[in-house]
Amino acid sequence: MNDLSNMPDFKSCSDEPILKERGQREVFCGLTGIIWLHRKIQDAFFLVVGSRTCAHLLQSAAGVMIFAEPRFGTAILEEKDLAGMADAHDELDREVDILLSRRSDIRQLFLVGSCPSEVIKLDLSRAAERLTKKYAPKVRVLNYSGSGIETTFTQGEDACLASMVPVLGNSDKKQLLLVGSLPDIVEDQFLNIFKSFGIGEVKVLPSRAKDLEPEIGAGTKVALAQPFLGDTLEQLLKFGAQHIEAPFPFGEEGTTAWLMAIAKAFGVNEETFEKVTEAPRARARKAIETTKSCLNDKSIFFFPDSQLEIPLARFLTRECGMKALEVGSPYIHKGIVGPDLNLLEKGPILSEGQDVDKQLDRCRSAQPDITVCGLGLANPLEKDGLRTKWAIELVFSPIHGYEQAGDLASLFARPIRRGEALKF
Ligand code: SF4
Repeated sequence: MNDLSNMPDFKSCSDEPILKERGQREVFCGLTGIIWLHRKIQDAFFLVVGSRTCAHLLQSAAGVMIFAEPRFGTAILEEKDLAGMADAHDELDREVDILLSRRSDIRQLFLVGSCPSEVIKLDLSRAAERLTKKYAPKVRVLNYSGSGIETTFTQGEDACLASMVPVLGNSDKKQLLLVGSLPDIVEDQFLNIFKSFGIGEVKVLPSRAKDLEPEIGAGTKVALAQPFLGDTLEQLLKFGAQHIEAPFPFGEEGTTAWLMAIAKAFGVNEETFEKVTEAPRARARKAIETTKSCLNDKSIFFFPDSQLEIPLARFLTRECGMKALEVGSPYIHKGIVGPDLNLLEKGPILSEGQDVDKQLDRCRSAQPDITVCGLGLANPLEKDGLRTKWAIELVFSPIHGYEQAGDLASLFARPIRRGEALKF
């Protein structure tokens, strides 16, 4: 691929004005992250301290877990708990007691806060400290908020990982820390590449189990696998780690740029880099090529949802020939998505936050070929004749790295093909 950003007439989005909106928003809350985090951290349990709505969200969104031994649950605060916070703390301790006596496999317990005012009033960090003392060293209890008032859906993962950083051990040894949950198969692909680069010490956050978790310090270089981890990154930097800035590993170009930044940070020579990446790069290019004809010249509109929007727009415009009309993101953290913005060609509206009615008007008048949005907006837009892609699917599907580049392009091609098949 030609590096367009090096061409003299290429103008990137990096200094473009950002439309900041602070109106009504249509995004899932941070509790949603539990659906993928509970699969990733295999000795953890997520106890949502919340209402029946929270229980309903988790059960309907992750209903399949009802048939397995689940690793999340909801401690529902009943109305009587409003009578006094002391009662609510007792109630919570009782729930935790029952849970931990029944489930000896739990090593990490996350108390996850939610929206109801009685939960907000409950000091979950105090509860976590008290319970950690009670169950240490076997079980560690942490807390974070997944409340819809404070978090959008991928921020739940950020809040969870940020809560883990201060309790990690300290070590100044030189190491690469891969941060952000990825499907195991994708994580293993990256770990194999790092091994072939000759990078000796590589750790992952979140680790699959507490015993495997990293120690962090001045020798830690952080490669973010997900762009929605601003708070986690801030915490890691506080403990002396350094951030390897790079575009995100979506598509052939993004993956190569991300791996190249990591390789440079660890002094991997060019020859090794080429040798390790040559074959998978060619596979990724070929896989994208098969779908490109369907996406080429099609327009796309992103509602703010997962914070993956900017790196995905970069991939779809540069590698698949799409035209981005608006790229909305709940937050635009230039320290994290800056390298992707540098590669995204000037043209689309960049918007941060949401005022959903205004944005729907913009989308309807732009008439994109495909709209990436949350579940709540998809049906009304489909009814208006627009083709949609659920943002949440992008978080659940393996989309990072060379081997997934073709599948990533296909995820966007599917609604377009479906739309064309339905045309009479
Ligand atoms: Fe629970 Fe609030 Fe999420 Fe609703 S928005 S499910 S009340 S945390």
